[in-house]
Amino acid sequence: MRSKGIPEEDLFSFLQSTKLQDKNHRFILSSMCTIPHPVAVRAHALFMETNLGDPGLFPGTASLERTLISRIGTLFHHPDACGYATTGGTESNIQALRIARATAGIASPNVVIPESAHFSFKKACDMIGVEMRSVPLTRDYRVDCERYLESVDANTCCMVGIAGTTEYGMVDPIRSLAAYARKEGIFFHVDAAFGGMVLPFLKGAPEFDFSLPGVMSIAVDPHKMGMSTIPAGCLLLRNEKDLCSLSVDTPYLTVKQEFTLSGTRPGGSVAGALAVLEYLGYEGMAAVVEGCMKNTRRLINGMESYGIRPVVTPDVNVATFKAPESPVPSPWQVSYTRNNHLRIVCMPHVHAGIIEAFLEAIGEQYA
Ligand code: PLP
Repeated sequence: MRSKGIPEEDLFSFLQSTKLQDKNHRFILSSMCTIPHPVAVRAHALFMETNLGDPGLFPGTASLERTLISRIGTLFHHPDACGYATTGGTESNIQALRIARATAGIASPNVVIPESAHFSFKKACDMIGVEMRSVPLTRDYRVDCERYLESVDANTCCMVGIAGTTEYGMVDPIRSLAAYARKEGIFFHVDAAFGGMVLPFLKGAPEFDFSLPGVMSIAVDPHKMGMSTIPAGCLLLRNEKDLCSLSVDTPYLTVKQEFTLSGTRPGGSVAGALAVLEYLGYEGMAAVVEGCMKNTRRLINGMESYGIRPVVTPDVNVATFKAPESPVPSPWQVSYTRNNHLRIVCMPHVHAGIIEAFLEAIGEQYA
C-alpha cells in the first residue's frame, strides 16, 4: 500500500481511465445483467452505508427487504412467501439445497438437476457434500421428464427445475416435476434467477411458481431482468419453517439468529431492486419484458434472413443460433454455449437500435 495517499483528482482520473478498459454496454450481448435502472442507482446511493446483516440497526432498510419479498411473493402467487435478499442466483441455489438437505434428514442425499442447470448447482453440491445427478434434455432443450423421474430415488433430498435456462432460455416441465415432488414428499426448488422477472409479465408463459403446490422455493434475481444494481438476488420459500432450518445463533447482533449465508449484506441494492418494481409497477415491467421479447424475435428473424438458424424458440429473451463459421465481428461481445451455439441475451440495454446495428454488422460479415 502507498505510504501517503494521492490527491482525489488523481485518484479519480486513474479510476476513470481504468474503467475505460471495460467493455461498453452498447456491444455487450452476452450478459444476463444490464445497466441498472436510474431509480435503482438513486435508491442504492441513498442506502449505501446500510447493512442488512444487523437489521436491528437499520429497521427501515429491513422493512424494504420485507416489502421486496412480499412484492415478489405476490407476483409468484404466494403473498405470504418468506425469504431474503441474497447476492444472486448462486447464493439462492446454495441456500435452497442446504434447506432441502437439512429438512430431509437423509444420510447420503442426492440432488436431481437438469443438465441445463447453472454451474452454481455444482458449487452448491460440492459445498454441502451431496451427490449431484444431472439429467439430459430433450431435443427442445427442456429436461427429459421421464429420465428425470428415473433418477429420483429414496435418497433424493431435492428436485430442481429451471425456469429460464442460462444457455437456451427454456422453461422445464415444472408442473409435472412439482406434482411428482409433492406426491413423493420431496423438496422442489425452481431456479428462476433469470426467468422469474420475465415469465410473470408474459401472456401465456409456462407455469413455474407457487401456484403449483409442489414448488417449495424459488430463486429470482432482480440484478438480472429486474434492472437493479448488483448484488440483488432473492430466495423465496413457501414455508417459513424451511428457511428457519438454516438459523444460527448470532449473539452479539441486534437479532439473535440469522438464516442468511452472508453476514454483512448490502441494503443499497435491496432498495434499488424495490425501487424499480415500485417505480415501474406491473405495467412498466411488462412493457420492458415485451420489448425484450420483441427484440429477441426480431434478432431471430434477422439472423435467419442471413441463413443463421436458431437452435430453439426460447421461452424467455435468450436467443441461440447454429454458430457461423467465422467469429462474430469485433467489438460485439457474444457468448457460446457448451454445444458451441452462438448465444445472445436481449437484455433491456440491448434495445431495438442495437439489434439493428448488430444485424447490419452480421450482414456485412456473412451475407
Ligand atoms: N441461475 C441461473 C438460471 C442463471 O442464469 C444464473 C446466472 O446467470 C445463476 C443462477 C447464477 O446467478 P449469479 O451469477 O447472480 O450468482
